Amino acid sequence: MDFGIRTYFDMFQKMEDTFKFCAECKKLPDALPDPRSLRRCKRCQNVYYCNSECQRANWPVHKKLCKKLKLVALDRLVEWLVFTGDIPFPTATWTKRIQEVKSWDDWFSMQEHLEEKLSSILTGHYMNILWANVGKPKPEEGELLESIKRLTTDFQSKPITIGMALHAFGIDLYTKPVTVHIVGASHIETLNTRVTDYDELTRVFPGHQGIEVVMVGVNVVDGPIMRPPLTAFGPRGRVYLSSYKALYPDFWESQVETHQAARPDLVVGFHPGLHACLDVMEGWLPTLLLLRDYKIPTLFTIYNEQELKYSLKILTELETQITGYGANPFTSLKPEQVYSNPNKSPIYCSAYYITCYGLAGTLDEPDLGRLDGAEDKGE
Ligand SMILES: [Zn+2]
Ligand SMILES: [Zn+2]
Repeated sequence: MDFGIRTYFDMFQKMEDTFKFCAECKKLPDALPDPRSLRRCKRCQNVYYCNSECQRANWPVHKKLCKKLKLVALDRLVEWLVFTGDIPFPTATWTKRIQEVKSWDDWFSMQEHLEEKLSSILTGHYMNILWANVGKPKPEEGELLESIKRLTTDFQSKPITIGMALHAFGIDLYTKPVTVHIVGASHIETLNTRVTDYDELTRVFPGHQGIEVVMVGVNVVDGPIMRPPLTAFGPRGRVYLSSYKALYPDFWESQVETHQAARPDLVVGFHPGLHACLDVMEGWLPTLLLLRDYKIPTLFTIYNEQELKYSLKILTELETQITGYGANPFTSLKPEQVYSNPNKSPIYCSAYYITCYGLAGTLDEPDLGRLDGAEDKGE
């Protein structure tokens, strides 16, 4: 990890380079007579302009998002501490039952010595390296603490959302091991993934009989979690994370049907993008039909309300039984900018969810699959 100081400086420059284009006319630095003349908005330290005319022209649009984009720019730097291992901090076994934990505030309130843990990240080795090399002014302590907390929610959002779904479907984790498949796992989701990344599930359900999480997708990255799925009993009281490079229906046929992988108790898709276009839909169709016909409890997460609406429509057209949907109480709180257009409202990972189960009209328990604490968006 310890590269020379110069290397850290270059690394942060390189990370920032991706965002260096004029927010108004979209020119890249190379297209300017002097690439160094690109100026940055001083308030947010996020967006760039090729000159003051572009900056002035952009201000009426940018001013509405400048404050939020400041958080975005901060979080994408502090996110480096996830890579170094400072985030997440060691978390506590849940002292409340899952149905009593309804928000991130509830979750943070269960973390003993939270102040000390946060302040040790704040004053840690890598935080110092970051601000010594990044070429941006160091924000106030309070802003950094909030950023660490947002990145913590970003990291823990996935395991906790899975925990909420296991609970919502009434899946029993105490009499037998449970298997969860993450479908459509992407390159970015599996890059740098560590075998411990879903360990929060053990702290949600202390004393469980073993939880296996298999990430399946054509773009999963080779790494420490690339190992065979389990065929039978999971490691009691522990989370076993693995990944498998294949389309889900192929994985099902070659691994699940042949009993080389356990049949899932729950399937989760983070941002499958069902709404996006016909192509994507066609890609997902065999998986959606498989999950429906085999009656696998399923949860999808979605970025925004618009996509939620479209996704619901698609699932309804496929006659899938929708058992719950709405705002996810355990959404990531880290804002992410729409890369090509920084002046669009930032998005949040897993902001909304849909749960579904089997074929429509075959179930008379409408509350199955509703996440506790979730706000219903109405019919
Ligand atoms: Zn410009
Ligand atoms: Zn700004």
